[in-house]
Amino acid sequence: MTRNDEIATLLEEFAALLDAQGVEYKPRAYERAAERIREHTVDIEVLAREGPEAVAEIDDVGDAISSKVVEYVETGEIAELEELREELPVEMDALTRVEGVGPRTVGRLYEELGVQTLDDLEAAAESGTIQQLSGFGEKTESNILEGIPFAREAHERQLLGKARPRGERIRAYLDEQEPVTRCELAGSIRRWSPTIGDVDVLVSSDDPEAVVDAFIGFPDSDSTIEAGSTKAGIKVDGVRVDLRVVAEGDFGAALQYFTGSKAHNVAVRSRAIDQDLKMNEYGVFDVSELTREEAEADQRAGERVAGETESEMYEILEMAWVPPELRENRGEVESAATHDLPSLVTTEDVRGDLHVHTDWSDGSNTIEEMVAGASEFGHEYVCLTDHASGPGIVSSIGLDDEDIRDQISVIRDVDDEADIDVLAGIEANIDTDGSISVGDDVLAALDIVVASPHTGLDGDGTDRLVEAARHPAVDIIGHPTGRQLNRREGLSVDIDRLARVAAECDTALEINADPRRLDLSGRLVQRALEQGAMVAINTDAHSPASYELVRYGVHTARRGWAESGDVLNTRSVSEL
Ligand SMILES: [Zn+2]
Ligand SMILES: [Zn+2]
Repeated sequence: MTRNDEIATLLEEFAALLDAQGVEYKPRAYERAAERIREHTVDIEVLAREGPEAVAEIDDVGDAISSKVVEYVETGEIAELEELREELPVEMDALTRVEGVGPRTVGRLYEELGVQTLDDLEAAAESGTIQQLSGFGEKTESNILEGIPFAREAHERQLLGKARPRGERIRAYLDEQEPVTRCELAGSIRRWSPTIGDVDVLVSSDDPEAVVDAFIGFPDSDSTIEAGSTKAGIKVDGVRVDLRVVAEGDFGAALQYFTGSKAHNVAVRSRAIDQDLKMNEYGVFDVSELTREEAEADQRAGERVAGETESEMYEILEMAWVPPELRENRGEVESAATHDLPSLVTTEDVRGDLHVHTDWSDGSNTIEEMVAGASEFGHEYVCLTDHASGPGIVSSIGLDDEDIRDQISVIRDVDDEADIDVLAGIEANIDTDGSISVGDDVLAALDIVVASPHTGLDGDGTDRLVEAARHPAVDIIGHPTGRQLNRREGLSVDIDRLARVAAECDTALEINADPRRLDLSGRLVQRALEQGAMVAINTDAHSPASYELVRYGVHTARRGWAESGDVLNTRSVSEL
């Protein structure tokens, strides 16, 4: 964990513990500060060493918080936080992953029922004691019970957005080590799954023990879980990283095998069997001369016909090499066999961002700064889409029609000066009945309207989203399901129906690239494209640093088989 991340996480815990005690306002201030510190590009430790004034230079970080940051850097703890933890000794992070359970509920459940862990919560819900508390009821209790398995699983999975940068750092580090010949990430992280269990790293070398030594010596390693002669596991920022070292000649086979998914590999292997071939982590073997027993007696039995590179593994099976994002057994094996795989969209294809916030709503930066950031990132255009007021949006954040008109004229002026095209947009709210929270005349004055659900994010959302997609002014449905990974599942959606309407009405469905969302998912994107809909890949950036998160959206699009032509913002501004 970077120091900024680490301190932000502590402040979030602080906020939750205060909130659990029923403290007003302060929790939100701690959360905001945490967010700013996490995004801040200067190492917080460097600032803390300069003193509390330097830390307080960061937006939204006041004196009280900055002195706590300094206290932590100097002493390794925050006394007040330790007190709060003693007063409320609960697994806050795990408990609040249960849908509908916030810090306040955790506080009450601890006080009244002594609930400290997910197991306690489950026992309490099963015994029916929660519904006896005032304000809880039977429905709440059964919702809690339903949410526990999801919360439990989520607790064990890491967001790709957290795991991927760490995996890449380890990979870069290993690449520099003398005994390492080839090094790749494998497993779900290579397939860009939205959440992953652990990070798999595959290395080829003729000196595995030296590689293992280098690996457990990774400077950011928190601890070593195991270290063998060709395998090792370490923890980096709470993420488990597993290393496997293979011989150079086996690298392609091992990479194919350990990238998965299981379903993909099963389908490919059965294709191999049909051709009298055997496929495993050591290669592809011709077993046509062997009896079945002989072929199965030894993994390496038979004549090896491929294994050094991944592409020759597929080639020998008369298949095109399959991009890792597609390896989910959703038709890619058949398409690779007929050489009909899509030519997937790339990050370079994306020419602009159509969903971006500024300090007019809840973004951290001015319009000018967000425009400069987009230009620096290499975009040809950016569309500013601050939150309109409406359901789900705090009134001090959302823009009313009057504000939007003002903002449009400011944006037009900025556009005149800027070296990229600057479009005026809005993120309108889709109410539970599908209506949009902005006046028609204002909508008409905007270049792009993103409409997103922010309230009532459970149950079936199809009617509501279809209604919004039909709205003549709406161009993009933002984060359509409203899911937040490891937090809430979001709306369930009949994607075929939504996508058909979207295609008909020229409304694009968003792939929100924020690693906490990745919404739509790859599976839904694939279905949407099959119905002829278009997608837009947007970062929903609240600061310029977030533009680079577009890659998570692009790889999600690739998991959904998207080609460049399927993505709205691969077009030039005039084509838009
Ligand atoms: Zn939104
Ligand atoms: Zn947004």
